[in-house]
Amino acid sequence: MSPDSRGSRGPRSPTSQTVEIDGRTVKLTNLDKVLYPASGFTKGEILDYYARVAPVMLPHLADRPATFIRYPDGVDASGFFAKHAPSHTPDWVRTVSIAVSSSGKQIEYVLIDDLSSLMWAANLAAVEFHVPQWHAADPAHHDLLVLDLDPGAPATVLDCVRVAFAARDLLAGHGMELRAKTSGGKGLHLYAPLTGVTAEQARELAHTIALSLETQHPDFIVSNMAKRERPGKVFVDWSQNTHAKTTVAPYSLRARPHPTVSTPVTWEQLESARRPEDLVFSPARALEQVGDYGDLLSGL
Ligand code: ATP
Ligand code: MN
Repeated sequence: MSPDSRGSRGPRSPTSQTVEIDGRTVKLTNLDKVLYPASGFTKGEILDYYARVAPVMLPHLADRPATFIRYPDGVDASGFFAKHAPSHTPDWVRTVSIAVSSSGKQIEYVLIDDLSSLMWAANLAAVEFHVPQWHAADPAHHDLLVLDLDPGAPATVLDCVRVAFAARDLLAGHGMELRAKTSGGKGLHLYAPLTGVTAEQARELAHTIALSLETQHPDFIVSNMAKRERPGKVFVDWSQNTHAKTTVAPYSLRARPHPTVSTPVTWEQLESARRPEDLVFSPARALEQVGDYGDLLSGL
């Protein structure tokens, strides 16, 4: 299908559209291409979802070097990680050159600061958006602590919920407030704000938390990377606080067979979840969640 098959398909199903956003001209293409074959979810629906969720999502993307996972041939085909700004990046999309890995190699990253940049990126079939726990303005300091809870089958997200409450109680004892989102995959992500903390310190803190949780509940919590696949246990992955690591951004779609969203949830929702499906958010349900609660991660 060519991007400009508008004429041949008739005006009621245009496959491309040129829109003005933030005073910039953004061309949205292949709108009726199905990118989630199992549910028939199209690129147009992906763009529509991102446009609607942008008001709550953008604050979590802004000024953080973005990694896209692009699926130009749909989520059943292999996607690819894109860290380098594409050569055809418009000049109004902000980019920044930063050395992230220990090799010292500079990467020119894209920063998704506004709606036009988000729509431009989503139009590249960037289904997933991932960001680090620090800002481009201050790469040396982490402003987020993240605990990635990974259930080892037959454990499910419901077991992650037990771990989340244990983590919440532990951190509350140190005056730290935790907030939760679904990963959009199998587990949960927990966040706490940090200030003036280096990557090394953030990683140490997360490791200490994971170790204490494991000590408290050795029957169902694991902190050791080598044992991450332990059946029936939840691995508390603290290593995502490493400088070069990213976590899927709040409100990002996931490239699962059906479209799911990494969605912030309340503690009450976690507590009342009875089946893993209770914590699965489609794009429509994620938008309802935002309608009901606003951004549960606001201010992070
Ligand atoms: P799930 O709940 O199913 O575990 P997840 O998003 O937490 O979903 P993980 O495999 O636990 O998935 O990975 C955690 C994070 O690490 C991801 O959100 C992603 O940002 C990052 N990540 C994972 N694999 C890669 C990779 N190959 N390259 C870069 N980043 C990755
Ligand atoms: Mn995970």
